[in-house]
Amino acid sequence: MALYVYKFGGTSVGTVERIKAVAEKVKKSHDAGDQIVVVVSAMSGETNRLVALAKEMQVQPTDRELDVLLSTGEQVTIALLSMALHNVGVDARSYTGAQVKILTDSAHTKARIREIDEANMRADLDAGRVVVVAGFQGVDEQGNITTLGRGGSDTTGVALAAALKADECHIYTDVDGVYTTDPRVVPKARRLEQITFEEMLEMASLGSKVLQIRSVEFAGKYNVKLRVLSSFMEGNGTLITYEESEMERALISGIAFNRDEAKLTLTGVPDLPGVASKILGPVAAENIEVDMIVQNISAHGTTDFTFTVNRNDFARAKSVLEGLRNELGGNTQIIGDNSIVKVSIVGVGMRSHAGIASTMFKTLADEGINIQMISTSEIKISVVVDEKYLELAVRALHKAFDLDQETA
Ligand code: ASP
Ligand code: MG
Repeated sequence: MALYVYKFGGTSVGTVERIKAVAEKVKKSHDAGDQIVVVVSAMSGETNRLVALAKEMQVQPTDRELDVLLSTGEQVTIALLSMALHNVGVDARSYTGAQVKILTDSAHTKARIREIDEANMRADLDAGRVVVVAGFQGVDEQGNITTLGRGGSDTTGVALAAALKADECHIYTDVDGVYTTDPRVVPKARRLEQITFEEMLEMASLGSKVLQIRSVEFAGKYNVKLRVLSSFMEGNGTLITYEESEMERALISGIAFNRDEAKLTLTGVPDLPGVASKILGPVAAENIEVDMIVQNISAHGTTDFTFTVNRNDFARAKSVLEGLRNELGGNTQIIGDNSIVKVSIVGVGMRSHAGIASTMFKTLADEGINIQMISTSEIKISVVVDEKYLELAVRALHKAFDLDQETA
């Protein structure tokens, strides 16, 4: 007998019919003798509808009232799913976050889970019931309803799996797993059987939006085995774990990319102590996140300084720099480019193998793609290129690192 936490996202419970299909799926596992806790999101579009309602009522509603409102979406789904389970002869009980007692801090709209009381859930599981829990919500010390931030049901699923020491946490979604890259860009992209937490975090933070990043961090911290699968298709999905796959000994596990990048360069900056902080301090003060940073060696006492930001922050970052020009003195010029993208190869295999970077650079060179910036970490190499090369770069790298799906 195994204990599983199944989490179903908004699309998977988007209609009455789909909730019935979820009940069938849960029934199958339950009938096979497994203990099941199901975590559900609000029906698709519901949370957005509630946000819009709040905005219509008040320009800036308080976060406390927003949480009271937004948490209702999930409450609808737990009741409906429990009814659907009863309909197919499965004993089930629904719980809001407060009823379980998912205790959080009081940071409304972005609360963090502190503790989970497993007593109610255990008693139901031991009595042969399926436990249905509302995702995305909890309760603080004072009894206020809190929510965990958009997409937070993934985190609820993982947190319950950690608390209950579940065998696996299944995240059912509308894709059938984690892919080597976005199949819309590379039709030959392959589903991965297995990927490590570290790799998944790199892929996720680089824009492969399968899972809420926080839930992956949480799962890694508590060593919860996470599996991403499709609600609509049969299949094994992708297992996210600490272990490296025995089967797929590929050097590179995937290729991530981010289209929302922009680059700013300051030329002729005096090469003096404190200059980097003089430039990036005011940028940070504007709450603009900086990603890659490159400073060249100096010639004649001045240097070039380049960094990247999210494309949405490009104009603001540029005006911060304009404001600094006088202070930096000399012949400082500002050059901006908001038509760049970042392409990264990710894989724990690169730790133990030399030559990955040179393969990457040669592949891009052979396609005539100019690399504008490079940055590396232990399991990732990222390059910045002109956005017009995005598809070409990703496809070429996918092939070069043997990630293309084998055709029968
Ligand atoms: N319903 C919430 C949202 O849309 C939480 C979730 O779906 O994970 O953000
Ligand atoms: Mg969701």
